[in-house]
Amino acid sequence: MTPISFEVFPPRTPAGERALWDVIRRLESLNPRFISVTYGAGGSSRDRTIDIVRRIAAETTLRPVAHLTAVGHSVAELRQIIGRYADAGARDLLVLRGDPPGDPRGSWVPHPQGLTYASELVELVRSLGDFTIGVAAFPEMHPRSPNWEWDVRHFVAKCRAGADYAITQMFFSAEDYLRLRDRVSAAGCDIPIIPEIMPATDPRQISRFAELSGATFPPDLARRLEAARDDPAEGYRIGVEHATAMSERLLAEGAPGLHCITLNRAAAALDIHHNVVNSRSASVH
Ligand code: FAD
Repeated sequence: MTPISFEVFPPRTPAGERALWDVIRRLESLNPRFISVTYGAGGSSRDRTIDIVRRIAAETTLRPVAHLTAVGHSVAELRQIIGRYADAGARDLLVLRGDPPGDPRGSWVPHPQGLTYASELVELVRSLGDFTIGVAAFPEMHPRSPNWEWDVRHFVAKCRAGADYAITQMFFSAEDYLRLRDRVSAAGCDIPIIPEIMPATDPRQISRFAELSGATFPPDLARRLEAARDDPAEGYRIGVEHATAMSERLLAEGAPGLHCITLNRAAAALDIHHNVVNSRSASVH
């Protein structure tokens, strides 16, 4: 089995909701390890995230992973949300600090009765029940970290606070992931770090995401996508080809899985899964 998982987000409209459930059903047929549901900045999508997680747990064979951030919440509110997740059937939380709403690069101001770092939220979740806990990892360093030594030290401390695994920020060069994994391992931490795969099929969208996440977009890939700007089918082909090649390399290098961003569309995720499964079975025979 190819160890793949997927990320979806809570849609804002009834049409988006119907499309999401169509995607979830199609992904379910791949028997993925889990499906994660994002959490809007400052809890803006909180109820929708909880509802989707509840339905995934109740109506599908999938394991839901609920994202949670500390932004804009007091500790009392966070306790309540964690309780609601547990009631909804979520036993697996992706625990994040989050970014300031509005301008993700703006100054981070904790809620006066809230938490400052993800490690504190990990400790809180750990103290409240038997959850599996994931945290964020950054193949190109967290944008707020002044240097690698700092970044890895605090990442390892966050893991030791009680995380079971990590999922990375999006990235577009396998080397970035491998360097991070080596640095974390050299610091004495062998937590599984699952690479996040973002199929770069639309140049406009990708440059925006790369800007927000701080991920470097390889100039060669950008050029090829730009040349296909008026040919969406070719852009799609290039994006899926790049994501497939990177996924194959990561698995060959021992990555413990692939976490694929879907943007609530199934096609690229299904194609990448299909390609990776085929190339793995071809290399076995
Ligand atoms: P932290 O681990 O707290 O780190 C933040 C910064 O503080 C880092 O520079 C770190 O080095 C530093 N630091 C940590 N501890 C200390 C300390 N004790 N002293 C000093 N400095 C310290 N955002 C959303 O809003 N909703 C989502 O659903 C969502 N899903 C995501 C999923 C994935 C897989 C990833 C990678 C990101 C996701 N994000 C989401 C974005 C995420 O919230 C931001 O990237 C955020 O900045 C992540 O922070 P963190 O959890 O790594 O914070």
